[in-house]
Amino acid sequence: MDAIFIPQLTKAPERTEEIQVKEFLPGLETLTQVRGRVRVQHHGNYLEVSGQAETIITCTCNRCLQQYNQRLAVNTKEIIWLDEDANQAQDLPLEREVAMEDLLETISSNGYFYPSEWLYEQMCLEMPQRQLCDFNCPGILSSDDQSPEKPVDNRWAGLEALKKQLPG
Ligand SMILES: [Zn+2]
Repeated sequence: MDAIFIPQLTKAPERTEEIQVKEFLPGLETLTQVRGRVRVQHHGNYLEVSGQAETIITCTCNRCLQQYNQRLAVNTKEIIWLDEDANQAQDLPLEREVAMEDLLETISSNGYFYPSEWLYEQMCLEMPQRQLCDFNCPGILSSDDQSPEKPVDNRWAGLEALKKQLPG
């Protein structure tokens, strides 16, 4: 995903750019490519960014520690304020009061918007804090409970089944 040069966006049709996403995001460990779209619209003093995307992630169950795969999806919209002085913020006097709008996301109106980083952040926010392979996961079974036939890792179950179909 290419960065969007914000002043350029004002010349785009409807001041909008829509990016089709079908790739792995840097820093985000996913089993499949992230698929979806990010739409960025310029509204003068702010950007309206919306995104719908989904992927599959591998989680580790908090109870039984087995790995399982889970769909991760985002469908979100965010307002990002544009500020001509956003890059000089650190030069302001320390005693300056923090206004409410400073707590919202602000980027320079002459800078770039990075759809890849934005989508990465949105996906991270959607990551399940509590990961359970199953709502009724019993947790780690003691060795007495585990039959020797039962594979430890669910991912190998399919492989074991295939092996049994092979001759010899
Ligand atoms: Zn579990």
